[in-house]
Amino acid sequence: MSGNKWHKLKYNIQEAKKQGKDTLLTFGGAYSNHIYAIAAAGKIFNFDTIGIIRGEEHLPLNPTLSFAKDSGMKIYYLDRTSYRNKNSPEIINQLQEKFGDFYLLPEGGTNDYAVKGCSEIISKINIDFDYVCCPCGTGGTLAGLISGLNGDKYSLGFSVLKGASFLKENVQSLLQNSNINSLKNWNINLDYHFGGYARTDLVLLDFINRFTSHTKIPIEPIYTGKMLFGIYDLASKGFFKEESRIIALHTGGLQGLKGLAGKLSGQTLND
Ligand SMILES: *Cc1c(COP(=O)(O)O)cnc(C)c1O
Repeated sequence: MSGNKWHKLKYNIQEAKKQGKDTLLTFGGAYSNHIYAIAAAGKIFNFDTIGIIRGEEHLPLNPTLSFAKDSGMKIYYLDRTSYRNKNSPEIINQLQEKFGDFYLLPEGGTNDYAVKGCSEIISKINIDFDYVCCPCGTGGTLAGLISGLNGDKYSLGFSVLKGASFLKENVQSLLQNSNINSLKNWNINLDYHFGGYARTDLVLLDFINRFTSHTKIPIEPIYTGKMLFGIYDLASKGFFKEESRIIALHTGGLQGLKGLAGKLSGQTLND
């Protein structure tokens, strides 16, 4: 269970235990890091897990879903229309009728407990810095970083989704739920989505190859690659204060790489 998903899960696991739940249910795409993390967490912390996957079954299972299944996760497919309504009372009721009682984690794992867990990332950074950056899918991780900094320094998120100005509102309302209001020391850059979620192109893939051969740090094209491309590009344009030290949070996601081989280059990796 690597990357930011552990931080997002930690207090949710505590809460699920407190509520006496023995099953975790959540949603995700077929390559989802979140699905992978919940399956692993279920095994480690002794929960049954149910993964509701967008779309139809494709056999053989990709590496993400076969890991999930081998970890004991029950996999259930929801057609794309129903999936879009996954948070509606109708769908939740259907799932309760089918699977009984469960602790529900939203797609991507973002809720107030996730923000609390991610705020602890800041205390693990033991060098001085000016900016901390992370990729944004739902904004939960960024909200945690902002909350951990509590007015100090600057947090910069990079949206991996196209046209995602709603992310700023998401983060704002997550912060409000944690009683953090009107901080100005953060923003989300919307310019490095490369066409949208799980989309990529040769420029990005070339950057990732060069980055990894230069630093020996593996990254992937869905989250960390887009953030790092953005950081390098902004730095070359003089965006950051001179002499500033920038922390780039490696949020993980490497499990997804196994299933991406052969699917790269200008295509969606989402199906
Ligand atoms: C889920 C995920 C993110 C996005 O986190 P949010 O809290 O949803 O913004 C970033 N990077 C990786 C590798 C992820 O798996």
